[in-house]
Amino acid sequence: MPHILILGGTTEASALANALAERGVRATLSYAGRVANPRPQPVPVRIGGFGGIEGLVAYLRDAAVTHLVDATHPFAARMSANAVGAAAQTGVALLALTRPAWTPGSADRWRHVPDIAGAVAALAGPPRRVMLALGRMHIEAFAAQPHHHYLLRFVDAPTQPVRLPHHHLVVDRGPFDIGSDIALMRAHAIDLVVCKNAGGRGAEAKLTAARALSLPVLMIDRPHPPERTEVHDIADLLRWIDHTADLGV
Ligand code: NAP
Repeated sequence: MPHILILGGTTEASALANALAERGVRATLSYAGRVANPRPQPVPVRIGGFGGIEGLVAYLRDAAVTHLVDATHPFAARMSANAVGAAAQTGVALLALTRPAWTPGSADRWRHVPDIAGAVAALAGPPRRVMLALGRMHIEAFAAQPHHHYLLRFVDAPTQPVRLPHHHLVVDRGPFDIGSDIALMRAHAIDLVVCKNAGGRGAEAKLTAARALSLPVLMIDRPHPPERTEVHDIADLLRWIDHTADLGV
């Protein structure tokens, strides 16, 4: 019987868990453990790192996983690379469920940077009011540009103090809507939005809000994962599972 391991932490991973549960397919959803209270899921959940490629190889063998689905966030580059490595070592079938990247429209004012360090460097210059739509893992780096006012939005209240001298923190969990993102940017007089090119619907509202307010966006481009097969929708992924299960995988 197939056993699908979903590497999660995204809305797509949760949607896939639902689809597999509805079909009665055995699946386990894996979280890194970054969020204090993940949403309840209809399949068994495991939490925490595996311990690199070797740890993931051991898990795949111990749990008799037949299919590995990498549905992590497009910026979770290490986990994605480990998935490719562990699948190669074990022969477990691997497919990535990814979101297409966002692309700018004619009314968008995006400047692209390759990574977080590039975004920090691009903030040299006079003080600004910046919405840092990045999640708490990457905020520390912006202490190198302490003169800006930063608007932060985290899923959980931080356990450590935020080391940015001028900031305002909102604790909220997406998906967000355009109207409230416009209101939030107006209320804090934001003049620049910094975000990662996550793609997907859940986090898109801030870009539409920035466009509506004619605000510039510093867009952090995606890291490049190693060669692997990707699909963008769950129907394709279910077909792949059916097809490979028919082949005796
Ligand atoms: P990362 O840098 O690629 O991963 C760092 C380590 O965390 C991995 O080597 C692995 O530890 C562990 N890990 C990551 N995802 C895991 C998962 N789904 N299940 C079990 N262990 C996992 O990843 P990250 O950027 O820290 O992201 C961590 C999680 O947050 C991911 O699940 C991702 O989908 C989610 N997320 C990330 C972002 C983002 O912007 N990066 C945004 C939203 C959600 P071991 O090597 O010990 O196995």
